[in-house]
Amino acid sequence: MGSRALVVGGRSSDRTQPLVSALQTAGLQTIRVEIPAEPTIDLIRRLSALARNERCDVVLAIGGGSVIDSGKAIAALLTNREDVLEYLEVIGRGHPLTHAPVPFIAIPTTAGTGSEVTRNAVLGSPAHGVKASLRSAQMLPRLAIIDPSLTISVPRPITASTGLDALTQLIEPYVSVRANRFTDALCVEAIPRAAAALPRVWDRPDDAAARSEMSWSSLCGGLALANAGLGAVHGLAAPIGGMFDAPHGAICAALLPHVIAANVRALRSRQPESPALVRYQHTARMLTNQPHATAEDGAAWVAQLCRKLEVPPLASYKIQQTDIPSVAERAAKASSMKANPIVLSPAEIGEIVAAAL
Ligand SMILES: [Zn+2]
Repeated sequence: MGSRALVVGGRSSDRTQPLVSALQTAGLQTIRVEIPAEPTIDLIRRLSALARNERCDVVLAIGGGSVIDSGKAIAALLTNREDVLEYLEVIGRGHPLTHAPVPFIAIPTTAGTGSEVTRNAVLGSPAHGVKASLRSAQMLPRLAIIDPSLTISVPRPITASTGLDALTQLIEPYVSVRANRFTDALCVEAIPRAAAALPRVWDRPDDAAARSEMSWSSLCGGLALANAGLGAVHGLAAPIGGMFDAPHGAICAALLPHVIAANVRALRSRQPESPALVRYQHTARMLTNQPHATAEDGAAWVAQLCRKLEVPPLASYKIQQTDIPSVAERAAKASSMKANPIVLSPAEIGEIVAAAL
């Protein structure tokens, strides 16, 4: 796929070093860069300039969602040379890419984001206080290598937050206004598997079979969200992640039970005939393994799982009651909000955040 490789990794070189050595043995020139935290547009500007100077023609990313999204963005900006804001959604001009990105290979080390099979890269803009996507069908990784054994050493809090992000990325596409038979097949396959495996990887981090189930579920979630969109959890995670120093998975985990409860409540009162209610009921049955569970039981089950997995409330990231109006206003504009099964009022969105504090 290329002769000059950019290897994108996290802070530790434990993961990247074997890959760099293997590439060098294979005769590739290799440059390694580190992604210290969730990527910002400034970081991506700097790294894509570096990759252009080094004339890299293939990008490999090994790490969590931040690392994979960074690699995906750099691969796109290597050949599309306008400023990143030219292409960025929501806060940029949102122009389409004009050139195919260089080949990009994704190797996830967490079971959470599914970024290895999606066509967007999420970048933060501290100046705008929001996160937004670079998006193009051409940004889909050329190759994704999913090896569950890479996830075994992930610390427990990250196992919990990324795992709950994976579960969110199965539930939101399943109830999305853009759900379709293809994504339904992925969600129905993986929701019960993730529900069963997530408590197991928490209790026993080296449970290889459960880790494998989580990697599979995360992959299904990535494919589902890329083809059906998400919902209010991710609609809220966009501004919260942009305004506060909180990891994406942790934000989604804290919001998920409250969004399910709020959506079900709003659907029952305003659109009682909505097929989304049937889908929430089915979701609850898949989560609880109880044939008579109601949509509300699903929200309660997720809340219970969040307690077991010691999910911190949003207040632990310094989000306060007074921040709610600006979070709600920005969330209403987020791309994920458009796929939520019902249009929520600003007051309802605010109540979700208040409940998750
Ligand atoms: Zn997510």
